[in-house]
Amino acid sequence: MKMPDMSDLASWQSIDRAHHIHPFTDQKALRASGSRIICKGEGVYLQDVEGNRYLDGMAGLWCVNVGYGRQELVTAATRQMEELAYYNCFFNTSTPAATRLSQLLAQVTPDGFNQCFFTNSGSEANDTVLRFGRHYWALKGKPEKTIFISRRNAYHGSTVAAGSLGGMAWMHSQGGLPIPDIAHIDQPYWYHEGGDETPEEFGIRVARQLKAKIRELGPDRVAAFIAEPIQGSGGVIIPPSTYWPEIKRICAENEILFIADEVICGFGRTGKWFGSEFYDLKPDMMSMAKGLSSGYVPIGAVMMSDEVADTLVANGFLSHGFTYSGHPLACAVAVRNIEIMLNERLVERVESDIGPYFQEKWASLKNHALVGEARSIGLIAGLEMVKDKSRREKFPTTARVGLFFREAAFRNGLVLRAIGDTVVASPPLVITHAEVDELIEKLGRTLDETE
Ligand code: PLP
Repeated sequence: MKMPDMSDLASWQSIDRAHHIHPFTDQKALRASGSRIICKGEGVYLQDVEGNRYLDGMAGLWCVNVGYGRQELVTAATRQMEELAYYNCFFNTSTPAATRLSQLLAQVTPDGFNQCFFTNSGSEANDTVLRFGRHYWALKGKPEKTIFISRRNAYHGSTVAAGSLGGMAWMHSQGGLPIPDIAHIDQPYWYHEGGDETPEEFGIRVARQLKAKIRELGPDRVAAFIAEPIQGSGGVIIPPSTYWPEIKRICAENEILFIADEVICGFGRTGKWFGSEFYDLKPDMMSMAKGLSSGYVPIGAVMMSDEVADTLVANGFLSHGFTYSGHPLACAVAVRNIEIMLNERLVERVESDIGPYFQEKWASLKNHALVGEARSIGLIAGLEMVKDKSRREKFPTTARVGLFFREAAFRNGLVLRAIGDTVVASPPLVITHAEVDELIEKLGRTLDETE
């Protein structure tokens, strides 16, 4: 079968329509409209088959931290494939790539994190966390501690366990989720859910829902609380300053594990290597993916505290793993990716240079008539679009505004996503000052057109 010419949009669309069912997409609408076919990436820019260029304010799906087109990663992948395209880490074997990556992860994660387990995605990492968390308590002689508490509107992935941990009602409406022994509390979303409370009062109140939920379920039955340091896909929900200290206290008092989902917040997004460090969270496990390889290859990992890892290891056999756990290609690319981040001091750059610049520009959007709140940390940001900002009034048809915004942004040469009526951004960590200016200018123009 002949491949269409690269620029033949209609042919690509027709093949895509006939054969490709897309993730998280209105399939019927897509078949009517046709896909936008992206074929190239360089730095922070994408190009479609018609030659249109877009500034990617989302780093793909919050993942292309070192930017597109990095030759070093191509070379690392090529070399690894030439040397050893595949071998597994089962049955007492390993590979130099997997071994080196585990060492590098121990180096860049906080003290007390020295051991990791490899997966292929963030969802698998969270499935792994669920199994390991329950297994940990069984090994501690408390097998009845099985319940995981998460948050409403959280996103932790799309597999059965990760989708259940997530708290998005629209995800639970398909495919029989959630599985048993998962409970949810509210999210720390002050802007739309804080009512008359100050952010600080709200932070404490919503954190204390964890305590109430543990009481309701019984502390002897609760295994863990899992949360992102900053809720990304829920709409970049930055918790009030009082939230995390209270959550930490409650977890410690009730002898439950705290698991940080670092799939978005990890690898420099907040200006620290991990979001847990930004908030001084000291979790027991961290799930990670995305920025681990800057999205160049699928890979995820669970980093465990020494206490958790040593407990699992002391028991001997661990009945969990994937054919591609520690895939040498993925590990070789992830190693090179982390080396680039270290060599180019990208995390420090987010903390003290491009991050503050971006935050200042982002905050200036607050003056737009449609913007109720413009919040950001490092290079992750959210913008509340409201019909009436004095009353924080939402648009009547939130989904339509989000869709309109995304398409208008594309027309303006900008990839940005709106989750409902919250615009979110997470540009590559290599974005320059001039590119930040361009992003903000195009975003402003898109807001002007949004109705
Ligand atoms: N956790 C968080 C916070 C995420 O944002 C995502 C994906 O967006 C996942 C987990 C799932 O990762 P993956 O899509 O690699 O399975």
